[in-house]
Amino acid sequence: MAGSADVVFAGGGVIGLSAAWLSAEQGLTVRVVDPEPGRGAAWVAGGMLAPVAEATFGEEALVGLFLDAAARWPAFASRLTEATGMETGFQECGTVAVALDASDRAEIDQLLDFRRELGLDTSRLSASECRSLVPGLSPAIRGGALMPGEQQVDNRAVVLALIEACARAGVDLVAERVASVSLGRDGAADGVLTEGGTLIPAGTVVLAAGAETPRIGGVPAGVIPPVRPVKGHMLRLRATGTGTAAGTAAGTAAGTAAGTGQAFEHIVRGLVHGHHSYLVPRADGSVVLGATAEERGYETTVRAGAVHMLLDDARLLLPGIDEWELLECIAGLRPGSPDNAPFVGPTSVPHLVLATGHYRNGFLLTPITAQAVAAYLTTGTVPPPLDAFPADRHLSAAPPAGT
Ligand SMILES: Cc1cc2nc3c(=O)[nH]c(=O)nc-3n(C[C@H](O)[C@H](O)[C@H](O)COP(=O)(O)OP(=O)(O)OC[C@H]3O[C@@H](n4cnc5c(N)ncnc54)[C@H](O)[C@@H]3O)c2cc1C
Repeated sequence: MAGSADVVFAGGGVIGLSAAWLSAEQGLTVRVVDPEPGRGAAWVAGGMLAPVAEATFGEEALVGLFLDAAARWPAFASRLTEATGMETGFQECGTVAVALDASDRAEIDQLLDFRRELGLDTSRLSASECRSLVPGLSPAIRGGALMPGEQQVDNRAVVLALIEACARAGVDLVAERVASVSLGRDGAADGVLTEGGTLIPAGTVVLAAGAETPRIGGVPAGVIPPVRPVKGHMLRLRATGTGTAAGTAAGTAAGTAAGTGQAFEHIVRGLVHGHHSYLVPRADGSVVLGATAEERGYETTVRAGAVHMLLDDARLLLPGIDEWELLECIAGLRPGSPDNAPFVGPTSVPHLVLATGHYRNGFLLTPITAQAVAAYLTTGTVPPPLDAFPADRHLSAAPPAGT
């Protein structure tokens, strides 16, 4: 491995890869050290770019960041495709939220009010309007809401394109696991040490290992904020057989995605007796069904109970799902932060930078984070709006590294 790079990223998930790509495009020499780039939470995710549907009441401060992030996606997706010739699955497909009982309906009405306060296009839907937008919905649905303009990407297509974009921009991808950050005599970060014992020197180290970030050694206590793993189960299905929206006359009449190969046109967010679930239709005919949110530490075993719960809720929304092909059951770890906002920017250790804590919104926040990291590495300043979320907030609550 030749010489010291300007910057080394410990972790090449959607955040590390995108920031590495844009940094290399700014003329920096960049290495990404990751045993399996793109195979963390990014591989599991739903790929929804949902600035408000994912925010809850009390998170108003975050919504400005999320809206700004969403607005950057169309240009970012085009730039990624131009750089690689690869598709990202970016679509402005809109979301239909549906309620199964009266209290679910009331919760969706609250979301409608919140969106209207923000000036976002939203309309209340009757049960039959929901069913005409999403053929196959259960007759038990109590109504819902249409949120046009909500976007999605194909999460796996995005990380594969980012790996290609990094390669084309000259980023050196090193397939090793980082054991620790190397600190020089002056206490500044000067590279990373891999589990294989290799020192990879660099002018700046960016910790971008998602939920695993606090487990990277060598960093003094009190420097890394409390990032925790929040497990999410996800299923992938293919809408085939009877009772699905794909290819039905109803789908065609309703102007849905029938005939395009996509099972239905909109993302469907369901509230099922207080449980949140979602179905994201992909262009290839598959449908992503998610997701659980579990505090179980660092383990990604697929549990039968979680799969059962996801399917149970989904079949109350779309009874025809019983006939669908079950393609995959998988679980991943979201990098959770105490206030659901990411940690992007410098730490108290010179030349040690964080890009983690993106929790449920790592894809949504990819362009804005990548641009902020590249800007920080080239100018020394984290640009707005991410500068309002400094990486050293919440430090008093940080657990010791490695727990
Ligand atoms: C079930 C589920 C559904 C989700 N749905 C959505 C969604 O719809 N929309 C959305 O915006 N977000 C969603 N997310 C969240 C999103 O996936 C994450 O926020 C995002 O992946 C975080 O990106 P990251 O690069 O920080 O972490 P990751 O994607 O987890 O990547 C971390 C990388 O670090 C590497 N790594 C770990 N330890 C080391 C080490 N010691 N040395 C080197 N490399 C290391 C891993 O191999 C991995 O490649 C979802 C997540 C889950 C689990």
